[in-house]
Amino acid sequence: MRRLLFSFHILLSLAGACRAQTQSTSQPSPQSHDRVVQLLKELTEAPGPPGSEESVRKIMTERMHPLADSVSYDGLGSIIAQQGNAGPRIMLDAHMDELGGMVRRIRPDGFISMQMLGYWLSAALPDQRWMIIGSKGPVLAVTDIWDAHIAPHDAQGHLQPQDLFLDTGARSAAEVQALGISPGDPVAPVSDFAVLANNRYLSKAWDDRVGCAVILEVMRRFAKSPHPNQIFYVGTVQEEGSIEMRGAATSARIINPDVGFSLEVGIPNDVPGPGPEAAQEVLGGGPGMMLYSFSELPNRNLVAHVKKIAADQHIPLQFDFVPGFGDDAGAIKLNNGGVPVTTVLVPARSTHAHNGIIDRTDFDRTVDLMVALIQSLDASTVARIKSFAP
Ligand SMILES: [Zn+2]
Repeated sequence: MRRLLFSFHILLSLAGACRAQTQSTSQPSPQSHDRVVQLLKELTEAPGPPGSEESVRKIMTERMHPLADSVSYDGLGSIIAQQGNAGPRIMLDAHMDELGGMVRRIRPDGFISMQMLGYWLSAALPDQRWMIIGSKGPVLAVTDIWDAHIAPHDAQGHLQPQDLFLDTGARSAAEVQALGISPGDPVAPVSDFAVLANNRYLSKAWDDRVGCAVILEVMRRFAKSPHPNQIFYVGTVQEEGSIEMRGAATSARIINPDVGFSLEVGIPNDVPGPGPEAAQEVLGGGPGMMLYSFSELPNRNLVAHVKKIAADQHIPLQFDFVPGFGDDAGAIKLNNGGVPVTTVLVPARSTHAHNGIIDRTDFDRTVDLMVALIQSLDASTVARIKSFAP
């Protein structure tokens, strides 16, 4: 009885919260005409699970073409845009794919099991909206959660684990097939972009559409101002859920960079929970730099150079040590005998979930930092960074 009352209370509170949210998000935002807000909304709302990056590639292609000297693709679907054709070869990388899934099996009753792609927490999966990209176009689905009034508990009173199925509303396998859905179809999370207080933005897929947006903004700046190098802006494929960071490896082989930067999400640790050793960034504290991850020990000369440029520009810089994190820099660094790399980060809360949060000032400062860094990378500076002579 106590559980029933408690559950009912939670349901009522949630209903209240939903109404409040609807009211606040239905009002036009003062930022709705902001160019960067529009870019972030468009990029994060696009569906693009690993191996199914078409929607994001289209956005990137359309926005890169007017700013680039050339645009090409690697053999896996990564996009490579180039500015300049003399000087050190600088690679800026962000991956276009997001966490998602694939249709595995369609049950006779119409429920659909998923092959998850990327590292999802099981707590992030039930009661969410998803888009299945079938042969007849996108189909909305939801991962069911047991009804609170009848959810089964074990003898200790703990909720029993629930198997995950997509529910499209179809009542049979035949109805699912009639929607154009078949095994292997990509499944993407659905979550609308929204502006929160303090210029904080809520959406899915900050990992790594925020990196894609940084790349586009840096490109925009260098379309009009000189730089002492050749810049290769790359939107890669198949980073999530793959330990070999596939698109970064194949595009680095084509570009053959002298220096590589991966633009990624940083991991702030400023919500109650994990202890202070888990991670050190905070939202709004400025761009981050990854100093330790499972995929990368960054080049120490390059790390020192990033710190110096950030200090010169009065841009606050945070540091990340996250053993459970890996990114495209890990693949770029192994290209052609070895490449100095580091990963520059826009802090994002809840990176592998439907509702992540970034802070606009972190985004703007990351763009400023990358522009200053690229301007500083002339031939002699790059030679010094690449040198291991004692
Ligand atoms: Zn990522």
